[in-house]
Amino acid sequence: MLYLGLIGYPVKHSVSPEMHNAALKKAGVDAIYLAFEVRPDQLEDAIKGAKALGFLGLNVTLPYKEEILNFVKAVGDASKINAANTLDLRNMLGYNTDVFGVEEAFKNAGVIIEGKKALVVGSGGAGKACAYALLKNGAEVILTNRTVQRGIETAEILRRYGFCIFHHYEKLEELEGKLDIIVNATTLGMVGFENKIPVPESILNDVVVFDTVYNPIETPLISLAKKMGCKVINGVEMLVYQGAKAFEIWTGLKPDVDLMREVAIKSITKSYKTFQNS
Ligand code: NAP
Repeated sequence: MLYLGLIGYPVKHSVSPEMHNAALKKAGVDAIYLAFEVRPDQLEDAIKGAKALGFLGLNVTLPYKEEILNFVKAVGDASKINAANTLDLRNMLGYNTDVFGVEEAFKNAGVIIEGKKALVVGSGGAGKACAYALLKNGAEVILTNRTVQRGIETAEILRRYGFCIFHHYEKLEELEGKLDIIVNATTLGMVGFENKIPVPESILNDVVVFDTVYNPIETPLISLAKKMGCKVINGVEMLVYQGAKAFEIWTGLKPDVDLMREVAIKSITKSYKTFQNS
């Protein structure tokens, strides 16, 4: 039996265990994927403990995607943006499969990134992964963030991969008619967080809208963007493909992504209903 898991704080509502366990079973891999809530002062112990117990790998979520790189070596996209969400504990390597998730989400929606002008709202782990994926595939990126300093610093780091500038969050109206793609990489609209649309309605005009938030699947942003006639991409695709890539890193096998999507949607829908009734 192989052991896999997710560490973060909190992880209670994660759909990753259901998604991965279904894919592992379908692939005939004798393994179990569990979620572990790790307190900030116990991150190092948790990694050492998992390694000592023979865990094959871990996913890493909020708030540890950057800090985790103190304990493993960043490779591939993780080394470019200094954030990892997938650990190979046999070799103590940290990968970033969120970037792949973003690329696949756009590709599957038939959206060509190259040559496009994209606004990325948010400069946390997801914001960095989205902005980097867009730059890597030839887009120009305008990055914005509520906390100005964090946004400026992130844009500066990302500039080595292409055209990337910071724009003030309070002045997004100025971008009306100048964008092709808008990405929400904030927690706005996510269950348990502020139920607010992260951009002014005036810029939701003839653009592709990608919301990284996947719970609920239809966020307030996605709902408004649809009404405004925009093409929309929800966060489920990124979730499924970041998971699929992690699965491949751990097992060397390609998982059944359709099954992963089906299980993820079922699990998210159930968790959202429970949240609404609580
Ligand atoms: P994070 O590192 O904590 O960053 C959170 C971001 O949200 C920061 O940019 C923060 O701005 C911004 N924010 C929070 N509250 C805000 C508010 N009231 N107004 C404006 N901005 C606000 O989190 P993360 O890991 O990047 O995750 C962000 C989102 O991405 C989450 O909703 C998560 O579910 C989603 N995500 C999805 C996937 C997927 O597979 N679909 C994968 C990863 C993440 P400040 O810097 O000002 O605090």
